[in-house]
Amino acid sequence: MTLVEQLRSTLGSERVHSHPLELLIYNKDAGATSGEVAAAVLPETTQEVAACVRIARDHGMPIVARGAGTGLAGGAVPEDPALLIVLTRMNRIWEVDDHARTAWVGAGVFNLDLSRATDHLGLHYAPDPSSQAACTIGGNVATNAGGPHCLAEGTTVAHILGLEMVTAEGDVLILGGKAPDPPGLDLRAVVVGSEGTLGIVTKVLVKLTENPPAVRTLLLTFDSIEAAAAAVSDTIAAGIVPAALEMMDQPMVIAVENFIKGGLPVDAVAVLLAELVGLESGVTAEAEIVERISREAGATSVKVAADEAERALLWKARKNAFGAVAQAAPDYYLHDTVVPRTKLAEVISQVYAIGERYGIKMLNVFHAGDGNLHPLVAYDSREPGMSERVRTAAEEMVRVSVAAGGSLTGEHGVGLEKRDLMGLVFEPVDLDAQARLRDAFDGVGLLNPGKVLPRGARCYDYGLNVLPGETAS
Ligand SMILES: Cc1cc2nc3c(=O)[nH]c(=O)nc-3n(C[C@H](O)[C@H](O)[C@H](O)COP(=O)(O)OP(=O)(O)OC[C@H]3O[C@@H](n4cnc5c(N)ncnc54)[C@H](O)[C@@H]3O)c2cc1C
Repeated sequence: MTLVEQLRSTLGSERVHSHPLELLIYNKDAGATSGEVAAAVLPETTQEVAACVRIARDHGMPIVARGAGTGLAGGAVPEDPALLIVLTRMNRIWEVDDHARTAWVGAGVFNLDLSRATDHLGLHYAPDPSSQAACTIGGNVATNAGGPHCLAEGTTVAHILGLEMVTAEGDVLILGGKAPDPPGLDLRAVVVGSEGTLGIVTKVLVKLTENPPAVRTLLLTFDSIEAAAAAVSDTIAAGIVPAALEMMDQPMVIAVENFIKGGLPVDAVAVLLAELVGLESGVTAEAEIVERISREAGATSVKVAADEAERALLWKARKNAFGAVAQAAPDYYLHDTVVPRTKLAEVISQVYAIGERYGIKMLNVFHAGDGNLHPLVAYDSREPGMSERVRTAAEEMVRVSVAAGGSLTGEHGVGLEKRDLMGLVFEPVDLDAQARLRDAFDGVGLLNPGKVLPRGARCYDYGLNVLPGETAS
């Protein structure tokens, strides 16, 4: 039987797609790269995932796991034809233990659905990528996703207690668990952020966080990026770590205001959104300190959200920022680098200079507290040469971030996009250690080949269609 026939006899025809038109939506993620999918399957159980892995393995067909495809680094985009295992039907919340504050959830559960499902218990799942209405917990685990509220709470890895995972051999492993310090090697942490290269995550044991008793949300305006950046680093230097500390520059505020019509301060050169959570007395005191420090740094206005509706509007503005760019241009390229907080203003001015040099429209919205920059280029890919210009400019932005003591990616992952830039932050010996670990999980390069690690050594760079000693059918 062919690969597709065997998959159909296992899952039924409805859940196996192989027609080029059906596969069109799977050739891309939310980033700028596109690839080639041989077939896409929609399993509903761990056993079905394991069966698909074994079938693909028998046919020498590489496998790429896919959640909702909101990734921005091409992680779920196959470079060479591959079987896509799409986890979105594995969207059951299996167990919520409000006493232990944990939940076992299917990898395909949407991030926001989990917090909605536990809200009545006064609990939520803390990592909140701006894509949280659409991205899956499995995708979040694979990319170690961050989000506005990860500044104080930590990124995904700090909220994952355990995992169920299908290996490259089609076996099912449980890593980690409810015990606070499980014995043995911490493979759970190794798998978080591994971008589908070590196994296919099917269930996740997450930590749930108490909804804060009090919240204070501030919108602060500045007449320079430097002043806003100083407010960010001075606040944290003063020992206050807000739950969230986000920055938008003027072009982004204007784009968002045109989109949501929320009365945002479009005259400000930079805007900070700061959120403080905790006990009422604590947030009141901290909000006063943030306001004082920000005014000393040059804040021109400070507005405190008066009620939940105003707070929700401010967060709607922040979380719709990328979508708002659609009015500015048909395409966008969203970057993700990290710089030391103290270098924010310096690197952003270099980023603007790069944009000007390449004649591209730049907007910025980012997790300022983490030093996690998201320069966004709005462009029209139909313009001849434009996509290449945007990519070259984007690479320069990575280089200036790294030169400032930062890193390649803060949260979107390496995928295809940053794979060939890994040498900027890792020595060959570091890359080799990662490659050897990967070999230990997947000795034949079956899982997401060609992703994360640069090509050049070991089986991950074969991009195998045929496993050693086997013939493709
Ligand atoms: C508008 C917008 C805003 C965003 N904001 C943020 C943000 O604030 N923070 C942030 O971190 N990211 C953000 N992202 C990026 C993206 O949403 C995250 O990377 C998210 O974690 C991807 O989840 P997904 O389900 O869409 O995964 P996919 O895009 O489908 O896959 C991403 C990677 O994970 C792997 N993968 C997916 N599921 C599994 C699984 N079950 N087992 C093993 N590997 C798997 C894939 O192979 C791929 O390498 C944003 C994206 C958009 C479009």
